[in-house]
Amino acid sequence: MDENAQPAASGVCPECGAPTVDGLSCREQLDAIAAWEWQDPALLAQHFLTVASYNLQHPAQFTDAAIAGLRELFIAHLDQGMAVVEVRRRVGQQAAGSVTVLKPAAERRPVLRHWPMTIADVYRSGQPEGAADRVRAWAASICKTDYR
Ligand SMILES: [Zn+2]
Repeated sequence: MDENAQPAASGVCPECGAPTVDGLSCREQLDAIAAWEWQDPALLAQHFLTVASYNLQHPAQFTDAAIAGLRELFIAHLDQGMAVVEVRRRVGQQAAGSVTVLKPAAERRPVLRHWPMTIADVYRSGQPEGAADRVRAWAASICKTDYR
């Protein structure tokens, strides 16, 4: 798909390729999963991975530097075991800095990429059971997929 292609009208995210599930776009599936965190401490503990995985699969809205910084922290946490508290501290530093994190809307160019797993594999038609494990599998698959 080139940059001039229109987003697919029929239920596939033009950036991460996730299908619409139960009428929910990939963003709405993320919101539904975030709502499960209230009932599921194991899932809540993976909150950073849930949001980071989603953002890494939707990089168009972010500056290149912001995505590179996020990916670095993501890998430091997953591969090198950086504690979530430290990851959060650094994310806070990045967000609090003067660096612009979001690209102006007119400069965003979503590119469809094919990933081994997407948010739809975590949402799984609205089944909260085991979601924390699926988030970890999703994050690990992104860690191994080196799109730049
Ligand atoms: Zn998507």
